[in-house]
Amino acid sequence: MKQVQYFEGRATVRIGRISVTTLLDGWLSLDGGAMYGIVPKTLWEQQLPADDRNRVRMAMRPLLVQTPTNTLVIESGLGQAVAPELHERYGIDRKGPLLGELVRAAGIEPDAVDTVACTHLHWDHSGGLCRLRDGNYEPTFAKATYVAQRGEWEIATKPSNLHKASYTPASLTPIEQRGQLRLVEGNAEIVPGVRFEFNGGHTENHAVIWLQDQGQSGCFLGDLVPTASHVPLAWISAYDINAGGSFHARESLYPKLVATQAQCFFYHEPEYPVRRMLQSGSRFLAAPVS
Ligand SMILES: [Zn+2]
Repeated sequence: MKQVQYFEGRATVRIGRISVTTLLDGWLSLDGGAMYGIVPKTLWEQQLPADDRNRVRMAMRPLLVQTPTNTLVIESGLGQAVAPELHERYGIDRKGPLLGELVRAAGIEPDAVDTVACTHLHWDHSGGLCRLRDGNYEPTFAKATYVAQRGEWEIATKPSNLHKASYTPASLTPIEQRGQLRLVEGNAEIVPGVRFEFNGGHTENHAVIWLQDQGQSGCFLGDLVPTASHVPLAWISAYDINAGGSFHARESLYPKLVATQAQCFFYHEPEYPVRRMLQSGSRFLAAPVS
């Protein structure tokens, strides 16, 4: 059985003049069968061992990004959006500070964050966008513009029965009420050098986020590829609303990651989260960036 080297620290890398730091909001443990979809346990447990309740332990790693023109946070951890009575079910382990303090600990004042973006708005990705103050949610970053895909925002803030277990609208709507929301559709620039590439698949409106400067590239993969162990094309989570869409999105994206030698950021990766995609024939592998 593989010995997992859980990575508790921050990793900082450069993409041209862009600095990217991975933060750690905490951990969650989800059912391994759900996380690996059709993949048999005999295969996936060689990558991430299951605990005594068949769960795999995964990180939540928002990014702090400084470009020549902007200071961004990408993804937000789960913050306070999940009621404490549900923490046991999801194996939530987040005893550390909230996102604003994580940013401050990395050397940036929260009020200096001017832009926030998410690949999608599932609660484990968007729960830290707002924080509780006196029982009410308010945006974690008071001076930031929050950029989201329009379709994702509409589903997340008015979820149907199909979607309501995946979203926490109360921790999102204050962003719009405070006038801090900017909605985009499809492939769209977030700030210069940072852009959405629309994928669908995991959610109807999932979009990975590319970072590019001076001929160098990075890509934050969100839940299209939640951990490095999910890189094989068919290793798709059962949480994906459209597994076939995820498969085709990966087929389209991976060659671009290889061709640009992009540094790939894996939000849920329990080990070192910054990797490079390598191709051998029709197979792909994410190797740690040294
Ligand atoms: Zn998700």
